[in-house]
Amino acid sequence: MMNPKCPSVAVVGAGIAGAAVARALALAGHSVHVFDKARAPGGRLATRRVEWVDRQGQGASARLDHGAPGFTAVHPAFQAFVDLALAAGWLAEWRPRLAPGSLALEGGAPLYIAAADSPALCRHLLEGVPVSLSFAVDGLQRGPLGWQVQGGGVRHASAFDAVVLALPPAQAAPLLHPHRPDWARHAATALMQPCWTLMGIAEDPGPGPAWDLARPRSGPLAWVMRNDARPGRAAAPGLAQWVAHARAGWSRENLEQPASWVLQHLQAALGEHLGRPVDWQHATVHRWRYAWPQAQGTAPAASCWWDAGQGLGVCGDFLGACGSNGVEGAWRSAQALTAALLQSASEGAGVSAPRAQVQAHDPAPTQAQARAQAEADPASAAQARRRSEVGPSTPSAPGQAGADRAPDPGSPLAEAGGCGRVPHAGEAGMDAPVNCEGPR
Ligand SMILES: Cc1cc2nc3c(=O)[nH]c(=O)nc-3n(C[C@H](O)[C@H](O)[C@H](O)COP(=O)(O)OP(=O)(O)OC[C@H]3O[C@@H](n4cnc5c(N)ncnc54)[C@H](O)[C@@H]3O)c2cc1C
Repeated sequence: MMNPKCPSVAVVGAGIAGAAVARALALAGHSVHVFDKARAPGGRLATRRVEWVDRQGQGASARLDHGAPGFTAVHPAFQAFVDLALAAGWLAEWRPRLAPGSLALEGGAPLYIAAADSPALCRHLLEGVPVSLSFAVDGLQRGPLGWQVQGGGVRHASAFDAVVLALPPAQAAPLLHPHRPDWARHAATALMQPCWTLMGIAEDPGPGPAWDLARPRSGPLAWVMRNDARPGRAAAPGLAQWVAHARAGWSRENLEQPASWVLQHLQAALGEHLGRPVDWQHATVHRWRYAWPQAQGTAPAASCWWDAGQGLGVCGDFLGACGSNGVEGAWRSAQALTAALLQSASEGAGVSAPRAQVQAHDPAPTQAQARAQAEADPASAAQARRRSEVGPSTPSAPGQAGADRAPDPGSPLAEAGGCGRVPHAGEAGMDAPVNCEGPR
């Protein structure tokens, strides 16, 4: 049973979902520790540093955004978070010039990308939160002291009142199995799309293409982008940075092919798309086994899973709240789980109930309401949206003074008044009701 006063929480996964939960809980006064198997936070909001020897025999390096190329904001609560992140300089708008004949961008421009590099958004969210990196969690034990987190035969020193898994479902399943075999079954069968990604540095024959992003209608490639045309990125003079994502179908068919085979085929596909050979200085591929959830036609039954009796929760893009996709879905799932966890904590004795179904109240405005308000009075609508859904400017980490600071995009729960108070739905930025009851 959770410490009803102020549960300490282990968050496994430092992608956008884990980082958002961790920050919201830390701002609400909880002791939080994040674990990730990678060497840096970000998850699929990823940037790879590549190194090669250039034509002059000198060592060279570049940073290529090989994960999600950007994301859109649809739900007003997520848009409010994005607005604050833009104001804080964490995010930038990218309005790519589309190649002639490209498929349009779903939802239209702009795309949002982290300023500097893709993982920067998660790094900012995790400022002030303790994070253990290169810690692949392979076991969770629940004993009289609470939850213990184990990785590579090493048990982390702390015990926690609750554990949150913010992982792709196939990676969450084995950790869930001893504690919630029913959830583990659902996670193990959740469908995710794979993606092979080509990235590299080539001679720039200049003048470059008059576009930054292509979405070809056929062929193996789904997205082709000039990485160096993105805000905050640049290539060395005379060089072009290419990142190209293969279609899910092509990636699935060729998932187990050797990387060298995939590299050769995707390089050929890019050359064909450009209508000229590409003079590569360096190129490599990355296989995303779980790139994004496969659309299943209906919104998932729950936006997060929360077992109050055990203090065990799951969030992530595969539970994309109310049909939200990708980064937005992961963020909204994280908000829903945070609210469920805080509600259980505030109820104290109630946390021992086997399962909690959280009914949020005071819903955030619908998109249509928000749009109508914004059209009537854009300035005050934006202000009101920030006030009601995200809360005012607050310290970026627990215990820091917040005066004269840029607005804090991680502040949805900062006004929650400390440990255990349940934010209303507007603060948490979520729909009502939010169902966090997991499948059985
Ligand atoms: C190529 C590509 C293109 C995409 N395009 C878009 C797009 O256009 N728009 C959009 O909105 N979204 C897009 N996405 C999807 C988007 O990136 C994801 O939906 C979102 O980032 C998922 O966030 P998450 O926090 O749920 O999971 P993740 O980002 O996957 O985070 C999970 C974290 O858990 C860690 N982890 C896993 N197992 C363990 C373990 N056992 N122990 C410890 N840590 C562990 C991982 O290292 C990772 O950091 C794309 C993704 C890819 C790969």
